[in-house]
Amino acid sequence: MNVLIGGAWPYANGSLHLGHVAALLPGDILARYYRLKGERVLYVSGSDCNGTPISIRANQENTTVTAIADRYHTEFLQCFNELGFTYDLYTRTDASHHHKAVQNIFLKLLENGFLFKKRIEQAYCTVDNQFLPDRFVEGTCPNCGAKARGDQCDNCSTILDPLDLKDKTCKICGNEPEIRETEHYYYEFSHFQQQLENFVNEASIEGRWRENAVQLTKRYLTEGLPDRAVTRDLPNGISVPVDGFEGKKIYVWIEAVAGYYTASLEWAKQNGKDVSEWWNEEAVSYYIHGKDNIPFHTVIWPAILMGLGQEGLPTHIVSNEYLTLEKRKLSTSQNWAVWVPEILKDYDPDSIRYFLTINAPENRDADFSWREFIYSHNSELLGAFANFVNRTLKFIAKSFNHKVPQAKVNNSIKLDVENLYAKVGEHIESGEMKQAIEAIFNFIRTSNRYFDEEQPWTTVNNQIEKCEETLATCVYIIQNLAQLLHPFLPFGCEKIRQMLGTSLNGWVEVADLPTELNNVEPLYERIDVKKIEEELQKLEEASKRI
Ligand SMILES: [Zn+2]
Ligand SMILES: [Zn+2]
Repeated sequence: MNVLIGGAWPYANGSLHLGHVAALLPGDILARYYRLKGERVLYVSGSDCNGTPISIRANQENTTVTAIADRYHTEFLQCFNELGFTYDLYTRTDASHHHKAVQNIFLKLLENGFLFKKRIEQAYCTVDNQFLPDRFVEGTCPNCGAKARGDQCDNCSTILDPLDLKDKTCKICGNEPEIRETEHYYYEFSHFQQQLENFVNEASIEGRWRENAVQLTKRYLTEGLPDRAVTRDLPNGISVPVDGFEGKKIYVWIEAVAGYYTASLEWAKQNGKDVSEWWNEEAVSYYIHGKDNIPFHTVIWPAILMGLGQEGLPTHIVSNEYLTLEKRKLSTSQNWAVWVPEILKDYDPDSIRYFLTINAPENRDADFSWREFIYSHNSELLGAFANFVNRTLKFIAKSFNHKVPQAKVNNSIKLDVENLYAKVGEHIESGEMKQAIEAIFNFIRTSNRYFDEEQPWTTVNNQIEKCEETLATCVYIIQNLAQLLHPFLPFGCEKIRQMLGTSLNGWVEVADLPTELNNVEPLYERIDVKKIEEELQKLEEASKRI
């Protein structure tokens, strides 16, 4: 089976925060799982490096668009790497392969007759010498009178055209923009209305999409799809490859989402593979993103693929709800966020992955609090998982001189482990990461009880055979945990395999026990609970500094 996994493309205009990781982490869990299962996985993503916010920032800092994009792209790569993300290709939208491939897509849509030209009026700032993107026109909402952005009013949720706003100002310089005529290409989304309705209904019946994606997509389709402009007068981005459109760029509507395909093309080229193996009707595809990105992946991108006649429509949509921070909405502008480069300095990536999976915002918003984070590390990751591994292996190191007793493994536990592979696999494939890891941790708690009840520290003195069976069973559990948890906690699992001298074997139960242990070391460190107050204080202070 071929499995394409597409992680959403973070915008290269600022650092990643935990909200990004909460949305993107299911992608890496899927990729690690399917590879372990032996499927042909292609996991792609990249940095979104085009668009007006980056060029404004470049102007403010008196530097170039490329310099800003480079800075954050490099930082993203480092963060994903430290978090253990295993992208096959993590690229960027200012790469020339992406530009060329998107231009080809544009020309193909033109050739297929789904793009048409239209003259429209748009806000133009004579101070900044540019047409303003919708979000860069601000003013008063004509509907409710509140202050609003050109794309929508946050107060009354009305979708706006920037020209509808009263008292319009340019977000960049604050002056009043003038209205100028310009010509753009529109994509005939309305042509695909019926096809998209069938597409969402089928996904919904088969339960392949998250419920939030089904609901939102149906709402959009009920309201009716308007044709949308797919070119813009923008300072940077991908040039429209048509005479008479010099200086105009292909708009993010079709450009960034096309990255899943262009990155696949580039990876296939670099690795001598045939891209169509991941882009056909039989291939499975997972799209991983936060709920604010749902329509891009369930309406816009499928409509583009339909217009291209390209097989490989999204099969699975894994769209997490939001992560809040200490019960408040995350806000980058108010600096109410936990930044990924910061948290990685002081905490184990497995602790972050564990917390954001067991508390994943899968069906409703979930909260990150420093108290919960540190307690979940100390009591569950360390207290249940690492403790079970440590007490077993230390006992063998001390009482059996590192030799693993080659005794019979408890039958009922063997059965539990076999069942666990099936159950956890099903949950992961359905995008239910929280239930998957809960099932494993329930089993770990049972395993700790087993250790307690068997009392190997007593039987070692008077019932050596029983003691050996207990420990053989515990090592058997541990070597299987190092596989079952590999998609979730890759760093701890790697440490276990080093201590056992084993390697990854596949998504199947491993029965053969290792013979001798290497150096036994703790999997994780305890976190001092004093850190809770320190982190809270840091957070408060940072949010006051802006
Ligand atoms: Zn309003
Ligand atoms: Zn201006």
